[in-house]
Amino acid sequence: STFHRPQQVCVLGSTGSIGTSTLDVIARHPDRYRVFALSAMSRVDELAAQCLQHQPRFAVLPDAKLAAQLRATLREAGSRTEVLDGMAALSEVAAHPEVDAVMAAIVGAAGLPPAMAAARAGKRLLLANKEAIVLGGALFMHTVEQGGATLLPVDSEHSAIFQCLPEDRSTWSQRIDHIVLTASGGPFRQRDPASLADVTPEQACAHPNWVMGRKISVDSATMMNKALEVIEARWLFNLKPEQIKVLIHPQSIVHSMVVCRDHSVLAQLGTPDMRVPIAYALAFPERVESGAGLLDLLKTPSLAFEEADADRFPGLHLSWQALRAAEGSTAVLNAANEEAVAAFLDRQLRFDHICRINRDALEAVMPQAGEVDSVDGLLALDARARRHARQRIAALAAAV
Ligand code: NAD
Ligand code: MG
Repeated sequence: STFHRPQQVCVLGSTGSIGTSTLDVIARHPDRYRVFALSAMSRVDELAAQCLQHQPRFAVLPDAKLAAQLRATLREAGSRTEVLDGMAALSEVAAHPEVDAVMAAIVGAAGLPPAMAAARAGKRLLLANKEAIVLGGALFMHTVEQGGATLLPVDSEHSAIFQCLPEDRSTWSQRIDHIVLTASGGPFRQRDPASLADVTPEQACAHPNWVMGRKISVDSATMMNKALEVIEARWLFNLKPEQIKVLIHPQSIVHSMVVCRDHSVLAQLGTPDMRVPIAYALAFPERVESGAGLLDLLKTPSLAFEEADADRFPGLHLSWQALRAAEGSTAVLNAANEEAVAAFLDRQLRFDHICRINRDALEAVMPQAGEVDSVDGLLALDARARRHARQRIAALAAAV
């Protein structure tokens, strides 16, 4: 190993699906990584157990009451972890001078401020939180560059693309003709689109290949997850909208592909296990054991690829529409989708109306001059899009 001391890692959203997988990889390499801070929104008992196992300097809970509860539990157990509360504390730990790497694994736009703080402070930024880059857009990428941060994708498709590219980013635009993001198609790939009106949250969250948080599971079922990933790829790899293609690949073995100028195609393969992209982001440019199983191609059913049908997946195409519209439109799309998914999970909105809410917001909420130039401006735009979406959701509910 080239490290003189273990890297200090801050795991934001440590009780989630990505957070727990990250702690699993970290625990395999105590010589390389130490947990500096953990954070969660709720699930105090789980966060307490993580604190006792990993003994971080800090634990953050935005809610003061829950933080007090965690403080009491940890004190009783003799832990020396200091508990902080408030959203600002997330940004403080992410930018702390002793931190080397930040895993951004909070779900939704709430993760933008701490991710920006890590970018500004020049950290290694391991980005799972795709909503943050979709909302932050050019400002986010500019902040990464200005801060001297190293942005490492954790989303499996983007990690695949990243693994197929050379380390020297200045060569990327010269070599890429286009990229192909693969999509499993989610649980409803073979269902008649007309039969999706009464899908329940439980059905939508039962993904065939991946176990994930509820929000991204619903996004996978609507294909809004792939839409967000198209936008994420635009920023991560500095691509034009027409350079990003999507193919359905139900087995989730080929995680994505780069088609080069000479039409050589590079792909990254593996079992569907998020610990691979997490381990790569942690160790880059080195490779470390991840815990993932070996891919046995002899036992793998043949790999299939299908077109992503626009009638079946109406949400997917909103990504290219948003990328070609006024800057900031991608933030509107993300905000409307977060509201629509929350309403669906709360049984206030029909599954097949999620896309309708998203399309309506994209067409009705116009980004204003200057809104995309600051985090506050982006958050104001995000709030306007959410208000619009909530009004439309209420109107649809009233019409039933
Ligand atoms: P999850 O719901 O399992 O976990 C989310 C974590 O964030 C939890 O620790 C939760 O306590 C915390 N959190 C939620 N809302 C918060 C808020 N408002 N403020 C602070 N903390 C908050 O979600 P997940 O599946 O782990 O996904 C996390 C992110 O990673 C998402 O952006 C998702 O799109 C992305 N991602 C996930 C996967 C996957 O396999 N799960 C794959 C690729 C990308
Ligand atoms: Mg993905």
